[in-house]
Amino acid sequence: MKTLVLVEHDNASVKDATLATVTAASKLGEVHLLVAGSGCAAVADEAAKIAGVGKVHLADDAAYEHQLAENVAPLAAGLMADHDAFLAPATTTGKNIAPRVAALLDVMQISDIISVEGDKTFTRPIYAGNAIATVESSDAKLVITVRGTAFDKAAAEGGSGTVEAVSGPGDAGISSFVSAEIAESERPELTSAKIIVSGGRALKDAATFEEYITPLADKLGAGIGASRAAVDAGYVPNDYQVGQTGKIVAPEVYIAIGISGAIQHLAGMKDSKTIIAINKDEDAPIFQVADIGLVADLFNAVPELTGKL
Ligand SMILES: Cc1cc2nc3c(=O)[nH]c(=O)nc-3n(C[C@H](O)[C@H](O)[C@H](O)COP(=O)(O)OP(=O)(O)OC[C@H]3O[C@@H](n4cnc5c(N)ncnc54)[C@H](O)[C@@H]3O)c2cc1C
Repeated sequence: MKTLVLVEHDNASVKDATLATVTAASKLGEVHLLVAGSGCAAVADEAAKIAGVGKVHLADDAAYEHQLAENVAPLAAGLMADHDAFLAPATTTGKNIAPRVAALLDVMQISDIISVEGDKTFTRPIYAGNAIATVESSDAKLVITVRGTAFDKAAAEGGSGTVEAVSGPGDAGISSFVSAEIAESERPELTSAKIIVSGGRALKDAATFEEYITPLADKLGAGIGASRAAVDAGYVPNDYQVGQTGKIVAPEVYIAIGISGAIQHLAGMKDSKTIIAINKDEDAPIFQVADIGLVADLFNAVPELTGKL
């Protein structure tokens, strides 16, 4: 089977989410990549070095600079004439593009797979991760998004793919990029951070969140996450949100502070290796998934913990 993997990038370098998708694709067969962007030849060269990669299709065109789904999906659908499966990371970019590719090919999309069981058989979580469905496709071509935390990352070095320029239909003329507001952060990106310190509604406001969560995260070199309640109340920007409608993470250590552990939050973090919870309510559901739990007032416990590190 020949697979085509959508490379996630910012026209300068390959994003980590791509690597787990390559691992999933390699379980299906030959791995080809699609780099769609503008001035992104360096991305294609970097992508060609990923272990196990064959051809890298480079579509370098101003129309693809911001990877607008309306422009990239027809390009990918065209390349699918020579491929059997299209795989994209289940990130905002992948989730935006893949279903349009599926519709253009008139096939189903299989979303957010967590394992490859056979050529056409996959598992994926449903009901906020409370059940795992095994699904088998009967479509001629597969369109799949891949949950990054469920697959090891392919090695970024060691491959010897060849880069081949391709052109697509270009600008569909039905959407345009206006501007981006990017949250500046020196911290590790949430979905690849080894340690995450996450705060919930109990943190009261933005200043308190900063005062209690940031020093602990700094000490641990950790990424910072939050529950939806903390995001909705404006303590932190919404790209901090962990959960069903936020980011799915699986770090080595996840520290949940003042988070009750609603199922929609657990859906985003319950695969973390070690979960530590600090909550003053001993009946909080978070303690059912925590490996280490501390029933305490966070306003005492967190500074004490930070001080001792
Ligand atoms: C469709 C849908 C999608 C959703 N998606 C998400 C999602 O992606 N992510 C997400 O997080 N939520 C999501 N939610 C919301 C979710 O249901 C919860 O409302 C939310 O997770 C609660 O956030 P919280 O735990 O911070 O707040 P709360 O549930 O209010 O919990 C606060 C916790 O802090 C504890 N606490 C209070 N004071 C202290 C103190 N001084 N010291 C220690 N502990 C203290 C309390 O005991 C309590 O357990 C979604 C909901 C819906 C309906």
